Amino acid sequence: MIDTHCHLDRVADLAAALDNDLAALVTIGTDPERSRAAVALAAREPRVFASVGLHPSDAERAADPAARAAIEALVREPGVVAIGETGFDTYWQVDALDAQRRSFAWQAELARAHDLPLVLHVRDGDGRDDASRSAAEMLQEHGWGRGILHCCNGHEALITTGLALGWFVSFAGNLTYARASAIHEAARAVPEDRLLVETDAPYLTPVPHRGQRNVPGNVVFTAAALARLRGLDPAALEARLDANARRCYALPSS
Ligand SMILES: [Zn+2]
Repeated sequence: MIDTHCHLDRVADLAAALDNDLAALVTIGTDPERSRAAVALAAREPRVFASVGLHPSDAERAADPAARAAIEALVREPGVVAIGETGFDTYWQVDALDAQRRSFAWQAELARAHDLPLVLHVRDGDGRDDASRSAAEMLQEHGWGRGILHCCNGHEALITTGLALGWFVSFAGNLTYARASAIHEAARAVPEDRLLVETDAPYLTPVPHRGQRNVPGNVVFTAAALARLRGLDPAALEARLDANARRCYALPSS
């Protein structure tokens, strides 16, 4: 299997996080320093690939030419397979949507210029959906055809917009949570050739390990939950998910 989204620079024990039989892992940068660390790890570990970008929590750094230049300089490094994660978040930051729009626009152009997929994080604050709506609007406006709705939140309009552009939809450990009904519904509805799974490790640990720190090997539990929700044979779905991940990130075939 492939973990399409993790943060290997944030795991407590890197050796333990890499102790699995995954075929590939994509570690995601969230600022210039962490993007550089992701690229360095990809250079060292043959199974690891990197994404470079600015997280929505750091969106204001997109106004800093030095931060932009640092990320732009990393894009051509070996092992870089995506731009991001960028995105929209009103959960951790109630009032940063304007900065997040500017950061998104820059990273969407970067993805287009280098023909790379864009990794998009979207999280709404409780009782609101303006992060999801902003994301759908910006996808519509910028229209780049390669990307991933990472950690799918179940927002219907956003998913419809992403799918229409040709994007993939990635499910994380919260798919395994009993009360995630909107995410379950999305997991049944997304076309099979656009499905991905991820851990977002060290966050969002799937059942049955919820409460512990997450590791990439736990991606199998999210894949199993997806197979159950769709009534599919787990092994057949895993093969499909791996093929999707390789196509999405243009990974070398195994
Ligand atoms: Zn992430």
